[in-house]
Amino acid sequence: MQAVGVARRPNPLGGRMSLGGRGGAGDDPTAGAAAAAIMDDLDFYSDLPSKELSLDEFEELALARLKVLRKIEELKTRNVTGEAYRMQLDKTIKANLHVDAATTTSASGGKLSAKQVRNRNKHQDISSHFILRAAYCRTEDLRRWFLTQECALFQHRLEKASKASGALQAFLHRAGLKFDRVSDSEKDRLRQQLLSVPGGAGGEAVSPAEFVTEIYYRVPFVQALDLIANRQAYVEAGFAYVPLRRIVSIVRAKFRMALSKSLVLASSAFSQVAGESARIGPLLKSMNQQYTGKDYGAYDKSNLGAEELTAQNVDMYAERSMPLCMSQLHSGLKRDHKLKHWGRLQYGLFLKGAGLSMEESLLFFQREFGKIMTAEQFNKNYSYNIRHMYGKEGKRASYTPYNCTKIVLGNPPNAGDHHGCPYRHYDEEHLGALLAKMKIGSPADRNEILNQKRSKNFQLACVKHFEITHPQAASTRGANLDGVGNHPNAWFAASVSYHNAKSGGTSSGGTIATALGAAAPAAKMEAASPNAKSEDSKQAAVL
Ligand code: SF4
Repeated sequence: MQAVGVARRPNPLGGRMSLGGRGGAGDDPTAGAAAAAIMDDLDFYSDLPSKELSLDEFEELALARLKVLRKIEELKTRNVTGEAYRMQLDKTIKANLHVDAATTTSASGGKLSAKQVRNRNKHQDISSHFILRAAYCRTEDLRRWFLTQECALFQHRLEKASKASGALQAFLHRAGLKFDRVSDSEKDRLRQQLLSVPGGAGGEAVSPAEFVTEIYYRVPFVQALDLIANRQAYVEAGFAYVPLRRIVSIVRAKFRMALSKSLVLASSAFSQVAGESARIGPLLKSMNQQYTGKDYGAYDKSNLGAEELTAQNVDMYAERSMPLCMSQLHSGLKRDHKLKHWGRLQYGLFLKGAGLSMEESLLFFQREFGKIMTAEQFNKNYSYNIRHMYGKEGKRASYTPYNCTKIVLGNPPNAGDHHGCPYRHYDEEHLGALLAKMKIGSPADRNEILNQKRSKNFQLACVKHFEITHPQAASTRGANLDGVGNHPNAWFAASVSYHNAKSGGTSSGGTIATALGAAAPAAKMEAASPNAKSEDSKQAAVL
């Protein structure tokens, strides 16, 4: 694989926010060992990395960070807060942005030293940030999404640093962020006022015992508007008096401003950079559409436990365990006794991923198509396509069922088509009527689904549908809900495991909180890129 050179460039932001410092936290004399490890994750990303990456590494790093940012979006959307939020996010960061010291070896084949592990973690963090910054700078929606998730990630890391002795001070020092420290005599003078500041969302109030060692900073009040609005800082003569633990919100605001500016700067250069490179241009343009969840490509019937998906029982599963896109295709097939090209692809590949064997798939489609054509016509015009999907014809590739991103951003259905995502492609009135006809939840439930559609949160509308039709799924022992809202096959597998668990069958555990585990950012999606279409076309052409 050819290498992609990434040239070092000066910080485009300049000024006081030239925070630099590629060295590890251990280079900073004010940081202890524990603080240094936490600081390694903190960066203002003001200097481009200079290391060369192969195209594979480039893509891997981007997808690794994408998983972390999508996890943040998912946790926020699910209202996961406090310790549960921190634990789940740390786990995702560790799994995706940190090297596994136990299994990763150095170039010489030996075990990595602690310093090498930290350097690699730092490299992965910085490189992945810049790759996604390049990919997400091109439209306002993408910039907003990236900015929101990156700020949340930065805040999470800053809060961790603020709880580790010396880490936050060391970071401020390294970042060149100078705040005016309040002298001991002034702190004593203001003791009563400072102790009267309540805690709140930004953290606990400073107790009298903590006050002795707490460091306070004097910050121009315009830099502490968030804290002042939440009554978390004492204000006097135009200055806010902010304890170190709440400096987080000010530093986060600075990070946000710097990243926002750099995204706008990057967007002006995007078309030139992407246009010049035939290798990374398409990758960057399609990055926001990348699916980062489980691959349902292989014919897999393990989700069904002891049951088996056959031509005979597809109807039952369509009624009970299919997401709206697939149940609509099923109804369309039953009504018209045929499906047009994109519908056959979307539904046929879904059924394959759900566990329908090629023989049963042929039987199933022949039975329906046979109502309007002879067996000979079916064999001549359609059976080849089905065998092709299973890799038994043509170049014998096994094709992958479509994930939600691909369906939502794919070809919209025309009259007589049944493919697509109803949450994306149906208008509000049509969708509302369909949900009512199918008796999905109460009017209030249906309104919640429609609200998600109105906000262009198509996949969250689909998750809501799942929650309504699978009551208490999150607390059902044995129900595995991973990937609901990301992939129709995940929805199906989750529903089957739920019903198995309810009826006493077994399956691996999971919670609805992890359901959007690798969610596409596609809660709000933009139009499909030419790349996505050309990939579809390649697959469609052979089928
Ligand atoms: Fe199907 Fe995904 Fe749309 Fe749900 S969000 S209806 S699973 S395409």
